[in-house]
Amino acid sequence: MSYAFFIDTTLCTGCRACQVACKQWHDLPAEETLNRGTHQNPPDLSDRTYKVVRMNEVVIEKKLRWLFFPEQCRHCIEAPCLEAAGEPTAIYRDDATGAILYTAETRHLAADDIIAACPYNVPRKGPDGVLYKCDMCVDRVRNGLQPACVQTCTAGAMHFGERESILAMAEERLATVRKQVPKASLADANDVTVIYLLAFDPMQYHENAIASSEFQGISRHMALRRMIRPFSRAVAGLSG
Ligand code: SF4
Ligand code: SF4
Repeated sequence: MSYAFFIDTTLCTGCRACQVACKQWHDLPAEETLNRGTHQNPPDLSDRTYKVVRMNEVVIEKKLRWLFFPEQCRHCIEAPCLEAAGEPTAIYRDDATGAILYTAETRHLAADDIIAACPYNVPRKGPDGVLYKCDMCVDRVRNGLQPACVQTCTAGAMHFGERESILAMAEERLATVRKQVPKASLADANDVTVIYLLAFDPMQYHENAIASSEFQGISRHMALRRMIRPFSRAVAGLSG
């Protein structure tokens, strides 16, 4: 089965219920937060925060707008992090769901190279040397449940299901939104499993809302060849 998320940012209210649900389901500790003059907290993804609702205050056509972007791993269809690792005991695709999954064996990979390979700057290294990110809640999905963030979304902004029907839903909603905002788009829809509907310029949401410019206009394989340096294996036992 090929799954996908549809995240309609035009409906997101920035309540962060998804962020909390993700932590709760994965039993992740809270992070100390700080008033930095923004609704966004914590400030970034981390080894303890797999989903963060990014917030930007922008002026568009003389109107102040709050743009919310619930960020997580995109579970890329051709995942550069997986190809960069080249080590299926550390990073692999779960055939039952399409999720790109990281294991504790990522501690043996060159973390900086894996992070650099991600077009969305998602993986984070923990103090134990392991790389962490969203796992699509595969334990829930394999048992017929929705991912915790989707299940919890109070605004009906997040959807999850079979890819074809999710894509159809996204296209239909895009057509509706474009009647009012002609520049609305589906971010990198052909390349990713987590499809965002963005009403405005993606860069106004976050610098990684779409694949970084180094990845645009070239295939992922070309990008990998260009970006990825030879990997060092810190510990023997990982053959490459
Ligand atoms: Fe890997 Fe980054 Fe794609 Fe997630 S978004 S699958 S971490 S390359
Ligand atoms: Fe967190 Fe699961 Fe949502 Fe990923 S799918 S962001 S792990 S709640």
